[in-house]
Amino acid sequence: MVAKGDMVYAMSTDAEILKKGELGGAVTALQKFALESGTVNAVLAVKKGYDIYDATPVLIKDPAELADTAGSLHCGTLLVASPIKKYLDGGKDMKIGVTVKGCDMMALLELARRGSVNLDNIITIGLNCGGSVSPVSARKMIADKFGVNPDDVHKEEIDKGQFIIEYGDEHKGISIDELEEEGYGRRSNCRRCKYKIPRNADLACGNWGVIGEKAGKATFIEVCSDKGADLLTRAVAAGVVQVEPAIPKGVEIRGKVENAMLKLGEKWRTNDFKKLSKDLWGTINEETSRCIKCYSCIENCPVCFKLADELKGDSKMITSGEIPPNPMFHMRRFAHISDTCINCGQCQELCPMDIPLALFSHAIRAESDVEFEPKLGEGSYNNK
Ligand code: FAD
Ligand code: SF4
Ligand code: SF4
Ligand code: SF4
Repeated sequence: MVAKGDMVYAMSTDAEILKKGELGGAVTALQKFALESGTVNAVLAVKKGYDIYDATPVLIKDPAELADTAGSLHCGTLLVASPIKKYLDGGKDMKIGVTVKGCDMMALLELARRGSVNLDNIITIGLNCGGSVSPVSARKMIADKFGVNPDDVHKEEIDKGQFIIEYGDEHKGISIDELEEEGYGRRSNCRRCKYKIPRNADLACGNWGVIGEKAGKATFIEVCSDKGADLLTRAVAAGVVQVEPAIPKGVEIRGKVENAMLKLGEKWRTNDFKKLSKDLWGTINEETSRCIKCYSCIENCPVCFKLADELKGDSKMITSGEIPPNPMFHMRRFAHISDTCINCGQCQELCPMDIPLALFSHAIRAESDVEFEPKLGEGSYNNK
């Protein structure tokens, strides 16, 4: 019997999932159990597409297909919350199990606040998240810094502060700090992110804090809700997952790593926002002068609603067909989302003109964020 607040080491009992899983394969085993037991009708997960840089969302209804989704794709910068709204009617008529990073969970909460998803029908299995790397910059980083052809890399991982690649029979790791000092590494929004352990999900899973003989072999699970406790309890009873209490020293180490990551996030915010504060609106005007008005930033933003339609035609302030658009196009967008931007980075990631949009909206949002975000030593944002 597991309860909300418990912290355990967990391992799948299925040999295939254990082998393919990033750690103990507990996430995949729990998703599979949720599907097999009828707890959910479908699982939304992420799997490798064309190559390791191509993280693809998949909706799975056949439990036998779940093992293919095991493993972490650190170049997976997608927001898995979006397909739930766009293609699954917000889970209004189906029960869905979904694996979420912190930004995915935040997006789901924002969508739920707007009535676009029904969280009662969704089981969220959260992943701790140190950050993700843009596929394009990952390829460049691997070629420039590792001296390896990115097409030869068959696996990547982030471990003990290093970005590690495996190619042929070899592997090579470089410290993320070193990579980031030279402009490579995690996406800039990820560097500023402080939602490292998604305690607002039903379960928060990761590798931090797994020490002793289980190090690298088990998934650390923090049980964050009664729904999560119920799923894990039933999965253990069914024999698909084995759990044991986390070692207290491991819990302590996990807390220290989390705090170090929060401090690092704060450092990046200070760094990024300071540069911007010299001339925020001048910088926004200059950068957005490259805009080709493709609407991608609007259509892919989880908190931007109805604005796309308003900005598409002529309006009092914006003339259709004008490129670059009148600065009011962007000002209206920033005004519209500034109090709810979750710093997921989708607007920036998907902007064809590489305009640092998430930086602008996050800077505006962060000004009013102090009450909302965790303080150092208090752990990640907790919505429950
Ligand atoms: P598995 O059984 O292997 O299942 C992995 C699940 O993750 C699958 O459902 C898969 O669909 C999903 N997934 C894979 N890539 C993505 C993606 N890009 N976006 C959304 N879902 C995805 N843990 C830490 O403790 N510290 C960290 O710093 C950390 N950083 C991470 C960064 C990223 C980008 C990701 C994806 C994960 C990170 N994790 C981190 C979590 C860790 O790597 C494992 O995913 C977690 O411990 C679960 O292990 P498992 O063996 O139970 O998962
Ligand atoms: Fe992870 Fe945060 Fe980046 Fe999302 S924004 S991928 S939760 S570091
Ligand atoms: Fe302009 Fe970029 Fe937004 Fe497209 S995604 S409308 S180019 S700012
Ligand atoms: Fe995400 Fe950009 Fe929207 Fe903010 S403005 S929530 S970073 S897509």
